Amino acid sequence: MDGLMQPRPLTIAHILERAERLYAHKEVVTAGEGRLTYAEVARQTRRLATALDTLGVPAGARVATFASNHRRHLELYLAVPATKRVLHSINIRLPAEHLEYIVGHAEDDVVFVDRALLPRIWPSAGRLRRVRHWVVLPDDSGVPIPADPRVLDYDELVSGAAPATGSFEETFTLTDEQLASGLCYTSGTTGPPKGVLYSHRSTVLHGLGTLAAGFIGLCESDVVLPIVPMFHANAWGLPYGAMLAGASLVLPGPSADPDHLLRLMAAERVTVAGAVPTVWTGLAPRLRDHDLGATRFLLGGGSAVPPALSEAYRAAIGVPITHSWGMTEISPVGAIGGTRTQHRDAAEADRVAVRAAQGQPLPLVNVRIADVETGRELPRDGTAVGELQVAGPWVAGGYFRVDAGSSFTADGWLRTGDLATIDADGYLRLVDRMKDLIKSGGEWISSVELEGAIASHPDVVEAAVIARPDPRWMERPVAYVVLREGSAATADELLAHITPMVAKWWLPDEVVLVPGLPKTGTGKISKTALRDSAAASGRDRAELVQPEAKL
Ligand code: ADP
Repeated sequence: MDGLMQPRPLTIAHILERAERLYAHKEVVTAGEGRLTYAEVARQTRRLATALDTLGVPAGARVATFASNHRRHLELYLAVPATKRVLHSINIRLPAEHLEYIVGHAEDDVVFVDRALLPRIWPSAGRLRRVRHWVVLPDDSGVPIPADPRVLDYDELVSGAAPATGSFEETFTLTDEQLASGLCYTSGTTGPPKGVLYSHRSTVLHGLGTLAAGFIGLCESDVVLPIVPMFHANAWGLPYGAMLAGASLVLPGPSADPDHLLRLMAAERVTVAGAVPTVWTGLAPRLRDHDLGATRFLLGGGSAVPPALSEAYRAAIGVPITHSWGMTEISPVGAIGGTRTQHRDAAEADRVAVRAAQGQPLPLVNVRIADVETGRELPRDGTAVGELQVAGPWVAGGYFRVDAGSSFTADGWLRTGDLATIDADGYLRLVDRMKDLIKSGGEWISSVELEGAIASHPDVVEAAVIARPDPRWMERPVAYVVLREGSAATADELLAHITPMVAKWWLPDEVVLVPGLPKTGTGKISKTALRDSAAASGRDRAELVQPEAKL
């Protein structure tokens, strides 16, 4: 027998209209630009909705953004899906070849681009003939605007449009909740980038997931700072989550300068912020120079947060960095770390170990581990290591217009490519990415664990461990380490530091001190680039020092 409850659709239009009605006075602050209330953002969004009609953007068409975190980007986050178009947020650090591939593959109809970022995308415009309009989001960069009939100014476009009236939400039907709302391409470390096509339903449920108490628990009193870019998997759902909760939003603009971010956190009394570990590493030395007393929750995700980094935050401001584990394919948040009541009376060292884990899956997310060879499910005993697989209403079930290949199991679970243990309480602990694990003499060595051990040395800023081919053992670990400025620590000292922490045969064959590590477009340490330059340079380490070169 069916229940008799109303089958109302879950839509992003509801997020907009809820913020407009209930939290009209709450604010969206953009660094360097100023403050707007949700009422004002909603008014802009309603004008933008009409402007999209005027531009003739059909329902279902892809509308791309090539932009940093600011309130105009938020208006696009709302207006595009609320009017049944699809928001395609593009990573602004992609090489031209990938950029052209994904704009072509997505068949973007319009591209909204920050004026400052024109030099990164406009040279490709000639090869992107399907794009009918290029709408420039103004800023004070002074970058020349191309004289081309396809180029329009965002503020002129929006201010010249009448605000759409009435409820967008009411135009959705139950079946519409499955409509595509957003599109993000994964980095394509293997093969071309693949598009993850979010639906209204998945986005709203994921947004609610960020409100789940005991996890991130966004609420009305929060002031939320997504440092994570709005092009990186929906800024981890923080903008939609904040609006659902009625929390204020602080958007940092284009600068990722540590002092800028810390000043913003202090001035706006930010309570929740999210960023990749490399960003938190950059902020760590300056924490005590700012009043971060309002901070209650810091999310670190995209790669493992070294326990020493999290503990340094706890020591300095009383708030550790909490693991957020996920993937673009999971909208992206799948699990959140941290201790629960059962750990309250545990010894501090044990609580540190719990905090080092990726945590428990959010409500509605199912996880399991499977034997890499046989695919058989492995026990949740905290020791068996297997490929992490995930299922849930905000987990991808396929990719946009490409064959999913072996990314999904026969019963439809997503294969994450991560190796993990799961314990009896459902805590995930990532051992490594499958492709980063080091196989030495038939035994596995976790690069993540070695990096965590090295990073616990007080002079270490960042560390990355990769495999070096070895005639005898097949592979051996080699560590690349960035030291604090002025540090006199040596490779031998670092090896001595980690010797008590890991098995003897895990000790890296070499510790190479470098001035910087290559980063991916989303700011993570790029082991692919590190492997490539290590292979290309042979034993000439001088090549490995250009941290920004791969951006
Ligand atoms: P990319 O492949 O471009 O890095 P994603 O941003 O989707 O794409 O990255 C997802 C991957 O990042 C996960 O499969 C996992 O390996 C890693 N990751 C994400 N969050 C964490 C975390 N909290 N701890 C360790 N690894 C993480």
